[in-house]
Amino acid sequence: MNTLLLGIGAWDPEPWRARFQAVLPGWQVVLPGEIFDRRAVRYAAAWKQPEGTFADLPLLDAIFSLGAGVDHLFKDKRLPEGVPVVRVVDPDLTTRMSEYVVMHCLMALRRVRVYDGFQRERKWIDLRDQPQASDIRVGLLGMGVLGQDAAAKLKTMGFQVAGWSRRPKAVEGVAMHHGADGLDALVAASDILVAMMPLTADTAGILDAMLFSRLPKAEAIGGPVLINVGRGGLQNETDILAALDTGTLGAAVLDVFQTEPLPEDSPLWSHPHVTVTPHNSAISSPPAIAAYVAAQITAHMEGKPLVNVVDPAHGY
Ligand code: NAP
Repeated sequence: MNTLLLGIGAWDPEPWRARFQAVLPGWQVVLPGEIFDRRAVRYAAAWKQPEGTFADLPLLDAIFSLGAGVDHLFKDKRLPEGVPVVRVVDPDLTTRMSEYVVMHCLMALRRVRVYDGFQRERKWIDLRDQPQASDIRVGLLGMGVLGQDAAAKLKTMGFQVAGWSRRPKAVEGVAMHHGADGLDALVAASDILVAMMPLTADTAGILDAMLFSRLPKAEAIGGPVLINVGRGGLQNETDILAALDTGTLGAAVLDVFQTEPLPEDSPLWSHPHVTVTPHNSAISSPPAIAAYVAAQITAHMEGKPLVNVVDPAHGY
């Protein structure tokens, strides 16, 4: 019987098994640790799988990440070589991410956290200097599927939008930059900097003191704002805290962390200028993602090529 192996290490696997069973009738959906014929496993789907989950599967045709990122897969030193890795590109996930990014850019623009503080203290304070979205420059690090969707929606709200990609790229209505020089130019002109790129050898730790020191003053919104929805490994949390304390950063909105769950003793939890969310800016919903993976499996078994296959050489 055709078998799908679910290598899920960070979530409850049962809702995923139920969804996959519903969209792949006649298939066996198994979890690591169960007894199954390893030669029957044609496909695998993964989120933070235990190391070695996908080794010794001689007829494995593809591994699907259950999220848009694949860094969790490439961390596995026993990942089989030559088996294509496919990532999620799905409007459900993309829409959720753009909601989060647009919401937090608008919250920064309208100083929502500052007014929350005034309200808690029963203070009727009107800051008066209220910039418009068109006064504020949003720089997006990463202009792939998620970056481009967020860019379009931010532009609809009136923000000035610029983007940064690895390779030269043209995106209508967006000032595009690439490479190291491009990063400097983009950062220097970003009142709000949004990280929405993959964690790779090239991007690890990129959100550090050096980068923050290049941000503009962004006085209109109380200092530059960092939003990280990419991966925690992109950021240096010690540098973020130091930059917040010196005013180099005005605020940080963090959905991802160097260690997840964020340890209870992290000073980020209680910092007045930090917003913490539990890596849920764009969740992978089992119905949407299982349908996406099942459609790819069905097409692939009919001889069609897989789509959204990542390039292992670049890690995304
Ligand atoms: P994508 O379509 O692959 O786009 C990645 C973008 O990052 C591309 O524009 C790429 O440049 C750029 N990039 C990669 N390496 C770079 C480098 N060294 N220098 C400059 N730019 C670089 O990915 P996506 O679907 O937009 O997703 C992006 C990331 O978001 C995922 O990898 C994941 O880590 C994260 N994510 C987080 C959540 C969450 O809940 N927090 C949910 C979903 C995704 P090119 O255009 O030149 O290739």
